[in-house]
Amino acid sequence: MFELSAEDLNLSAEQKEVLAMIREFARREVRPAVKEYEPGDRYPHPLVDRMKELGLFGLTIPEEYGGAGLDHVTYALVFEELSAAWMSIAGVLGTHSIMAYVIARYGTEEQKQRFLPRMAAGELRGGLALTEPEAGSDVASIRTRARREGDAYVLNGVKTFITNSRHGTGLLVLAKTDPGAPKPSRGMSAFVFEHSGEVPGFTVRRDIPKLGYKGLDTCEIAFEDVRVPAENLVGGVEGEGFKQVMSGLEVGRINVAARAVGVARAALDDALRYSQQRVAFGKPIGRHQAIQQLLADAYAQIEAARQLVLFAARKKDRGERADLEAGAAKLFASEMCGRVTLDMMRVLGGYGYTTDFDLERYYRDAPLMIIGEGTNEIQRMVIANRLLEKYAL
Ligand SMILES: Cc1cc2nc3c(=O)[nH]c(=O)nc-3n(C[C@H](O)[C@H](O)[C@H](O)COP(=O)(O)OP(=O)(O)OC[C@H]3O[C@@H](n4cnc5c(N)ncnc54)[C@H](O)[C@@H]3O)c2cc1C
Repeated sequence: MFELSAEDLNLSAEQKEVLAMIREFARREVRPAVKEYEPGDRYPHPLVDRMKELGLFGLTIPEEYGGAGLDHVTYALVFEELSAAWMSIAGVLGTHSIMAYVIARYGTEEQKQRFLPRMAAGELRGGLALTEPEAGSDVASIRTRARREGDAYVLNGVKTFITNSRHGTGLLVLAKTDPGAPKPSRGMSAFVFEHSGEVPGFTVRRDIPKLGYKGLDTCEIAFEDVRVPAENLVGGVEGEGFKQVMSGLEVGRINVAARAVGVARAALDDALRYSQQRVAFGKPIGRHQAIQQLLADAYAQIEAARQLVLFAARKKDRGERADLEAGAAKLFASEMCGRVTLDMMRVLGGYGYTTDFDLERYYRDAPLMIIGEGTNEIQRMVIANRLLEKYAL
């Protein structure tokens, strides 16, 4: 109901086509499936199979490597649409797309040819393994070690909160190749790790129970003397991993911000509908000024957040550095989503708190956007540092 029209967005014919296809998929297949998978925290295998058929795993992968080669504006709109239906389903694509971006941008030609077509087909479904039990925001403090031994690197370490690590088939793993590097960020490298079958030494230790983001695998994983072929070192050069991953996180922040817009939009949509049906004191509650203020504020904030997302996406599409814009979009959109989902719950009164309505799900899903792809405290640091650098006296 409340969605931007393709005309408002000034989209190309191709972008309109993708948007229409995603809306149809979200409406006809994702929405009806939520109740089946979300409450029991079950992985939605049939939806993932459909996403493969629809080519969603190759959305931004260049055409020459089997993808659709779409721009980041379309990418953001796809994440918004999917999240308006069910945020978790966007998570299947989220870190996969970051991994694909890093390979496409920094991988060797041989790596692009070896991994990207399989990623585009959804055969190699990826994720991002950065966080460790002792190192989240402070990425440079990771302990996972990659030691060169002949034609392989031997990985040892534990990663936690890794999305797509049970049901996916690959990960981009950040590890230290030079723990003694004077600048810790220069001692890290990124590896493409495939785990479609049994891999000696690799274990998924546990599925982490969560408030929301249900149905999607978020796990603690361990590497014990896991051998990764040396040719899987991204770009073939040690010490570049931190830079590569940080660049990927710009894309990640755009997708997280777009997800926040999608969830908040769904909440407003439900509240708009409800406020016209529910009657109190002789009129629909939507005619009471207190409710109108909530609806109006929600609308203005959602539109503002979407513009920040598109601003960052356009910058990325021009090939420019977009950490400032992506950070601002992620910060604003995720905080907005937290506020709006609570406010729209107010509109639904007691019913918003029940599992008979979707609002409680939006409310449970919203905080992830505040924490994921770098917490908002870290976003503020990124934004401020970039401002001071850009506008240095
Ligand atoms: C559902 C879910 C899925 C996730 N998926 C992935 C994934 O696929 N891959 C992956 O690698 N990670 C993933 N993460 C991990 C996520 O990126 C981290 O949780 C996040 O980066 C924060 O790290 P932390 O939890 O260790 O918190 P900490 O880094 O310990 O931070 C704790 C608190 O301290 C604050 N803080 C830390 N340093 C500073 C500072 N310098 N200044 C001010 N405040 C500070 C933080 O903002 C936060 O409020 C996921 C997390 C969740 C919850």
